[in-house]
Amino acid sequence: NILIEQTDPELWAAIQAENARQEHHIELIASENYASPAVMAAQGTQLTNKYAEGYPGRRYYGGCEYVDVAEQLAIDRVKQLFGAEAANVQPHCGASANEAVFLAFLKPGDTIMGMSLAEGGHLTHGMPLNMSGKWFNVVSYGLNEREEIDYDAMERKAHEHRPKLIIAGASAYSLRIDFERFARVAKDVGALFMVDMAHYAGLIAAGVYPNPVPHADVVTSTTHKSLRGPRGGIILMKAEHEKAINSAVFPGLQGGPLMHVIAAKAVAFKEALTPEFKAYQQQVIRNAQIVAETLTERGLRIVSGRTESHVMLVDLRAKGITGKEAEAVLGQAHMTINKNAIPNDPEKPMVTSGIRVGTPAMTTRGFKDEEARLTANLIADVLDNPRDAANIEAVRAKVNALTARFPVYR
Ligand code: PLP
Repeated sequence: NILIEQTDPELWAAIQAENARQEHHIELIASENYASPAVMAAQGTQLTNKYAEGYPGRRYYGGCEYVDVAEQLAIDRVKQLFGAEAANVQPHCGASANEAVFLAFLKPGDTIMGMSLAEGGHLTHGMPLNMSGKWFNVVSYGLNEREEIDYDAMERKAHEHRPKLIIAGASAYSLRIDFERFARVAKDVGALFMVDMAHYAGLIAAGVYPNPVPHADVVTSTTHKSLRGPRGGIILMKAEHEKAINSAVFPGLQGGPLMHVIAAKAVAFKEALTPEFKAYQQQVIRNAQIVAETLTERGLRIVSGRTESHVMLVDLRAKGITGKEAEAVLGQAHMTINKNAIPNDPEKPMVTSGIRVGTPAMTTRGFKDEEARLTANLIADVLDNPRDAANIEAVRAKVNALTARFPVYR
């Protein structure tokens, strides 16, 4: 770090400021987490210097004998973690992992079916401005009147439109997903079944959320959300799909793999195989349930009524505040969240009537039941009186006192 300070003081100032923000704010963005010092250290090693196009034992460059070890460790560990037959650890991110699956199995114009973005899906599952929406004919499924995935409608649409690929997985859905039912429907209509478990991967690794791997042809994920690894992607698959997926990732979509990031993935997968990681994920869900219950007691509505995971959507309309305004005032109080559309949201996507709240990051810094309850009460304190500067300042002081007791990186 002294080296960065000496070489580039201007950049160092920004890094220092971001470090301080991460320490002082309560991080409630559901897709974020704090990677361990070992995961971060692996990314700062000499492995960043190495070109290694190809796969372990079959490279297009010399000198790959040691990075081969790193990549094979990552592959073996992630297969063990999720019970997968085969794994590709090279995707640079979650979006490129999904694109690799499309490239492996689809042609432009094919029909795909995914969860609608407006009801909790991800933009790579068929949003019109994304490659998935531009290149494919998209059929979306969504939620029923109880704000649960409408499995009956999904099944009907699958039979009607015969998609080539069905995608399960979401970015803003708090309940357990019935992967078995999706798999059955995919089989009935002859579709390939893909699960994007990016949000739930850490919970799944710890066995506290249903594992899609036994049911899906391919499972994609990010490694940096609840899984708490470096920023990146992975693809797990049945052995029969390994060749198609591997050649879609490289040379189909990417050039040289990021070996320093793959090394950090290996570290994260090792950490995720420990009993401590399981206890951590149990607390992530517990904290989410406490936050949901407390916000409900304080007069807010949780979309789908509850959470069975690390995440929830909060309907703000009872407080007369938009998601956009809530994101701004909670930020002033040092609590970081993102605005998020709720089902049938009357507001525009850049305004919204909701916020998304997640507990992976707060749990990593050591928050347990009491701190989760306090955090939810502090959120409600801000939302009860969002235009009163003295109120925001009083909450910010309480947040700063709390975060000072739970340093992230000692
Ligand atoms: N899939 C899901 C379900 C996600 O929530 C996200 C990110 O938010 C992604 C894919 C994309 O991951 P990345 O941002 O690494 O491309």
